[in-house]
Amino acid sequence: MINYISTRGGGPKSFEEVLLEGLAPDGGLYVPKSWPQIDLAALKGKSYVEVAEAVMFPFVEGSIERADFRGILEETYSAEIFRHPDVVPLHKLNDDLYVLELFYGPTIAFKDVALQLLGRLFDYVLSKRGERVTIVGATSGDTGSAAIEGCRHSDHVDIFILHPKGRVSDVQRKQMTSVNAPNVHNIALDGTFDDCQSMVKAMFNDPAFRSEMNLSAVNSINWARIMAQIVYYVSVTLALDDEVSFVVPTGNFGNVFAAYAALQMGLPIKSLTVATNANDILTRFFESGEMVAKDVHPTLSPSMDIQISSNFERYLFDALGRDAEKLNAFMNEFRDSGKFSLSDSLIDGGGDLTAYRLDDEGTLEVIKKIHDETGYVLDPHSAVGMAAALKIVGEVERDGPVVTLATAHPAKFPDAVEKAIGERPKLPDHLSDLMDREEFVTDQPNDLKAVQDFVRSNV
Ligand SMILES: *Cc1c(COP(=O)(O)O)cnc(C)c1O
Repeated sequence: MINYISTRGGGPKSFEEVLLEGLAPDGGLYVPKSWPQIDLAALKGKSYVEVAEAVMFPFVEGSIERADFRGILEETYSAEIFRHPDVVPLHKLNDDLYVLELFYGPTIAFKDVALQLLGRLFDYVLSKRGERVTIVGATSGDTGSAAIEGCRHSDHVDIFILHPKGRVSDVQRKQMTSVNAPNVHNIALDGTFDDCQSMVKAMFNDPAFRSEMNLSAVNSINWARIMAQIVYYVSVTLALDDEVSFVVPTGNFGNVFAAYAALQMGLPIKSLTVATNANDILTRFFESGEMVAKDVHPTLSPSMDIQISSNFERYLFDALGRDAEKLNAFMNEFRDSGKFSLSDSLIDGGGDLTAYRLDDEGTLEVIKKIHDETGYVLDPHSAVGMAAALKIVGEVERDGPVVTLATAHPAKFPDAVEKAIGERPKLPDHLSDLMDREEFVTDQPNDLKAVQDFVRSNV
């Protein structure tokens, strides 16, 4: 059975505790105390659900019965929820280059893969304990709707989602705010995504409020989300039966941390590339070892408009040899001064990641190029990854397949796509009337007390 420790020194905790707490009480993020190893040979020819069970069960053992977990997975990755028989299909562009399509869930972005599972895990654990929780989360666009879809039918959860007012796309906003359920509350915050994220952190760091509301988190700081995302790196490796070079469009470092976790679990990965837009704090870090926060600039890929990547803390913890004291010192320095630097030897110790950045102009060019050459339409986030993938494919010494993650359906960002190719991508059938649906949302100032009062009076 695997226990969990906090990056800031706390623990050990069980999966159940880690799931419900989200963020550790010491302000850190939970990571498994050790990495279970994947037996790839035993997974050949298995279904997505079977692979998911094998990869994830060691992480939940002791908190969930195996048969119950299997039932939850069958429900989560069923045809009613994920509208493709492969759940996460691999689209071949040519012999070298594949797109992993992660957008067949209800909100047509990759976050459904984890959040559909998370909602069901919450319900399972909370009904067993006879408890309720209040989920508060920040979203740069896609997490919010995916979290709401994951929790809207729950009898045990009230959910409050903060989004930066005016800084998410119309489709993203409508997907969140058109849900009319008594346990679902949308807050449009007067600020940036980082302000929303800081606000959520501040609520968690207020012990009285935290226990009064029984707060819980579904942001990518929740370990269970990372766990669910490990599965598709394994399923791709099995499908291609080869060492894969993965490219991951990145914002909060969640998806790429899942790939890093797969590596720690023994998955043979040829290379791992982090792709960012012009908000390139991570790319600058991997180039220089210096983490320096700058202002956030709105781009065509808004779900990656992030300067403080919360999941990076998990990676840093490993890079520092899992020394919580050192980690604390770095995080405090970053909080106080907006920067810190790591020596090269430390970066080398954390695994072989390379980084890539692409501005908006480049994003539009890649969408157009791929459409012109193959007829395939990328969303702007996936295009940022594609640019890095094309570069890798062009490298002389490379061999083996390159897989870039398509993190959203192009119709989720129709303006950018239309600008690139002159055609507006159509929403899938289940969302075709989305833009006509009524909205339910409350405006709030960037003020902790005001938001806490709102939460308190609506639970
Ligand atoms: C959330 C999101 C990302 C960034 O993912 P992280 O795991 O936070 O790095 C990229 N693309 C899309 C479409 C997203 O919704």
